[in-house]
Amino acid sequence: MSLVRVEGVTKSYRLGEQTVTALHNITLSFDEGVFLAIAGPSGSGKTTLLNIIGCIDAPSTGKVYIDNAEVTGRSPDDLADLRAHTTGFIFQTFNLFPVLTAAENVEYPLLNLPEITREERQKRVARFLAVVGLEKHADRKPNQLSGGQRQRVAIARALAIKPRIVLADEPTANLDRRTGEEILNLMKDINRQYGTTFIFSTHDRRIMSMADRLIRIEDGRIASLAMKVNDNWKSVRLAAGAAQEIGKTS
Ligand code: ADP
Ligand code: MG
Repeated sequence: MSLVRVEGVTKSYRLGEQTVTALHNITLSFDEGVFLAIAGPSGSGKTTLLNIIGCIDAPSTGKVYIDNAEVTGRSPDDLADLRAHTTGFIFQTFNLFPVLTAAENVEYPLLNLPEITREERQKRVARFLAVVGLEKHADRKPNQLSGGQRQRVAIARALAIKPRIVLADEPTANLDRRTGEEILNLMKDINRQYGTTFIFSTHDRRIMSMADRLIRIEDGRIASLAMKVNDNWKSVRLAAGAAQEIGKTS
């Protein structure tokens, strides 16, 4: 069963008199557990697609399903609730609160989940700071951490809600090459160990090669799909009008 299904999604923005179409009729689906890269040049529609999968933004036309339930057309409150329980977000610029410590940043999304007790919150903060190797830096503020460490805090924050999906929009773009690869390797370890689905965007070839599923987009259209089988990329034929299934673990 697919975890995410995007069906005939088009997204247009009005810019004054003009209409910019960021995504054209995208149809694809994938299963839980993938480590998926959305690759394409700047302006190709990566962020728009991630935001639609993450229910931050709604498509102009088309439908989005999470766990086979349609999410398009739900109320803003419903979508906020779905995001709070289902999706962790990681950003290019880390987006940590500068006045909060690493531990408080990780705790923050848990404050939206009333079913989680204070004790459980503290357990999760400690656990996920340890997962990203920052248990010793729990009390530091972002400006006392390196870029790579800040992104580790952001990863711990994304994981704290125990999400089904983690969406990472160019998570390595503000990091040097080595640190970027370390961050991707950490995400991959978490994907393997916990089965958490990761979807990340990038325009960096080395980073996209670390994925196990690859969607290339150009000008808002799917240019190619590929999956890794025994460490080799195998392209998936694009079937006109049909759902592009790239989640099948074969
Ligand atoms: P990427 O993340 O691959 O760089 P984006 O998804 O940000 O691409 O943008 C895709 C296209 O949509 C670009 O042409 C961009 O200018 C346009 N776009 C994105 N967001 C907006 C917006 N809020 N208003 C108008 N145009 C936008
Ligand atoms: Mg972008």
